[in-house]
Amino acid sequence: MHDKTTVIHAGYEKDSQSTMAVPLYQTTAYEFKDAQHAANLFALKELGNIYTRLMNPTTDVFEKRFAALEGGAAAIATSSGMAAIFNTIANVAEAGDNIICASKVYGGTATLTTHTIKRFGIEARYFDVHKPQELEALIDEKTKLILFESITNPSVDVPDFEGITTIANKHGILTAVDNTVATPIHCKPFSLGCDLSVHSTSKYTTGQGLAIGGIVVERENLLDKIKGNTRYAHFNEPDASYHGLVYVDVPLPLFSLRMRLALLRDLGATPSPFNSWLFIQGLEHLPLRMKQHSASALEIARFLENHPKVTKVNYPGLKSNVNYPYAQKYIKGGCSGLLSFEVESFDQAIMVADKTELFSMVVNIGDSKSIITHPASTTHQQLSPEELIAAGVPSGLIRLSVGLEECSDLIADLTQALEG
Ligand code: PLP
Repeated sequence: MHDKTTVIHAGYEKDSQSTMAVPLYQTTAYEFKDAQHAANLFALKELGNIYTRLMNPTTDVFEKRFAALEGGAAAIATSSGMAAIFNTIANVAEAGDNIICASKVYGGTATLTTHTIKRFGIEARYFDVHKPQELEALIDEKTKLILFESITNPSVDVPDFEGITTIANKHGILTAVDNTVATPIHCKPFSLGCDLSVHSTSKYTTGQGLAIGGIVVERENLLDKIKGNTRYAHFNEPDASYHGLVYVDVPLPLFSLRMRLALLRDLGATPSPFNSWLFIQGLEHLPLRMKQHSASALEIARFLENHPKVTKVNYPGLKSNVNYPYAQKYIKGGCSGLLSFEVESFDQAIMVADKTELFSMVVNIGDSKSIITHPASTTHQQLSPEELIAAGVPSGLIRLSVGLEECSDLIADLTQALEG
């Protein structure tokens, strides 16, 4: 099915009321038919609704639709993009383990991997997504995950998917790609050899800056990589917290099953049904919106490239950009609405951000309304000067999330702001 059809129909079988719109099931819990029914649900002898921290019929449509759009086997929606990333790490790693993360990632992912998971005893090691050979020296028997972004935020790099997944597969290590910026419209991580895809649905999925959420998608046949793999013993051995359940023996997508039964149960980073309903509305026009975001971003990138006050433009759709060959290979139908550019100094960057009128100064991306951000003073403020350089965020870097306004109006706004 084409993406434009999937986003309208997948995952929804009309209920007894035959409503055209997916119903919003705003409820905390569900009534069991009798004690036996309740016992069967808890024992997984029957599948069904128990409690909204674990599942909800509106969220279920969102999960199924998103998984279908990405070509995955199953998905688990979470309360935020950060919750999606943390739950992905927590589903594979424990104290004493390590993960390998791309050195250029979203600021929250950088602080999560550098500081927070360290307090859980999980170490993060870093690699350059264009030098996958660096992975070999970082991998050991305790490595549980390789995490990177399909279009990095804010440095806008496109990784060497083939190089990374080849090494990961050689060592039997799971790969997770944050596909937030590219979206499933421009990048299909499973067709590129990745095992898991994570998203902040707070961005292009809602599309209008309406709600915070996240989702983790699992590829088809992940069992093949996990069954008998000593890196993932906890999927292969009885889970004492779930009356001895062995995940590899259950005929359901196992990564999602464990995330639901163990992590949503215990960590509780569940989306509200209303937010899932909003994400379903957003998904319906995601393909149309991404086409426009990408076309306008390319036009603005070309304009900036020729501007005398701009020292560098980062957009993988530009032929001059180092990422262009990777984008040609891995990103389809446009390169999304995120771009960044550099002016000479921290102060000049602040001045440009202050002077724009149509671009709102907001720490978000993927909204229909255009956004301007100065990462060094906002999203990446917690990073040291050395960490800023390593994360690809020089102090004069400005990030744009190009919205759905008329592109010539946006270019006029940037022209007056750069004049100073
Ligand atoms: N991943 C990427 C690429 C992001 O840009 C963001 C937020 O900006 C996140 C994850 C975190 O998402 P959330 O804000 O929904 O927690």
